[in-house]
Amino acid sequence: MSYLVKNYNRKKIAFKKGKGSYLFSTNGKKYLDFVQGIAVNSLGHAHPKLIKTIKDQSKKLWHVSNAFQIPEGEKLAKKLCKKTFADCVMFQNSGAEATEAAIKVAKRYFYSVGKPNKNRILCIKNSFHGRTLATIYASGSKKMTQGFGPKVLGFDHIEFKDFKPRFPNLKNKIKKNTAAIMVETILGEGGIKPIPVKCLKYLRNICNKKKILLILDEVQCGIGRTGDFFAFESSKVKPDIVPIAKGIGGGFPIGAVLMNKKVASGMIPGTHGSTFGGNPLAMKIGSTVLDIIANKSFLRNVKKNSEYFHSELKKIKTEFPKIIKEVRGRGLLIGLQLYRDQTNFIKHLMKNKLLTIRAAENVIRILPPLNVKKKEIDQAVNIIKRVCSKLN
Ligand SMILES: *Cc1c(COP(=O)(O)O)cnc(C)c1O
Repeated sequence: MSYLVKNYNRKKIAFKKGKGSYLFSTNGKKYLDFVQGIAVNSLGHAHPKLIKTIKDQSKKLWHVSNAFQIPEGEKLAKKLCKKTFADCVMFQNSGAEATEAAIKVAKRYFYSVGKPNKNRILCIKNSFHGRTLATIYASGSKKMTQGFGPKVLGFDHIEFKDFKPRFPNLKNKIKKNTAAIMVETILGEGGIKPIPVKCLKYLRNICNKKKILLILDEVQCGIGRTGDFFAFESSKVKPDIVPIAKGIGGGFPIGAVLMNKKVASGMIPGTHGSTFGGNPLAMKIGSTVLDIIANKSFLRNVKKNSEYFHSELKKIKTEFPKIIKEVRGRGLLIGLQLYRDQTNFIKHLMKNKLLTIRAAENVIRILPPLNVKKKEIDQAVNIIKRVCSKLN
């Protein structure tokens, strides 16, 4: 008998500890964890530097109100801005809060410049931005919004399949009252689908032309996951607003909205707040994670390892062309698209001590920690091969 609400379909397994890429179950088995809390534990389990940070800071100060100065938050915000396009940062606790705050920032900017009717956000149908009322209607997914009406207004949608050169349908979707376009740089839950670089560039151009804002949701694909600090970096596109979360806390709940100073100008005192957002303990942990991940040689290593992983997976696809349809994604945000429902495959991987997680379109998501070792990748590759042979 469980006293928890049954809003999750949980697997019948629990864990008692983790170390790096591995999880140890309560019944004494060792698993290779390539879920990592869905791209949350960016440095794996029980990273010594994170343990030290928590230990040290927990003895000093956990939480103070945002009514006071928080130097630990100032420091992390400065580091994030020095590393990226951003001029300032607003801290939250989760991804949904960060994306919802990003929407608020966009609306508030146009309000502050005397255009309060410019308040609609254009999103990709069936994308994922979180589970709050506003963010489920931002996704516009029937599955997520069913039973949660009345509809939260202010969102328009474009289909992902329209994301191709010249963008049929995009122009007429941008209306006089559109404030921003919000997309995941790489759709995560939606099936590990990167927006092509050409399309990202086109989005930026059209936003410039129409004087609207570009919000890139990097909650899942950001913070080193692709081998670049942000997934959009290789496109050279500069967004206006970027919500982040998952990887920045290394397992501790942190969310944030990064933005340029133009849009930040609308966020005057009293326009937004979060009781827990930006607390000293979270900020110290975020700083430690950032110091490790933002390092060039660390990111170079993510690229090197992920290239190896992708090439090995492509070999498996060639060997089992009737099982694997496509190897998707970038860096260590990897999707294996199968021809059939992936549930059974994931079950078999788990039997063989490899943990993975599903995404839409029959995709198995593979999300190792960013500091995964080559021999752990080899181990995963062997398990995937074994399961392919068995199900062939
Ligand atoms: C996970 C995710 C969110 C929501 O994050 P939560 O912390 O679960 O609220 C938002 N956007 C994207 C792209 C995500 O992957």
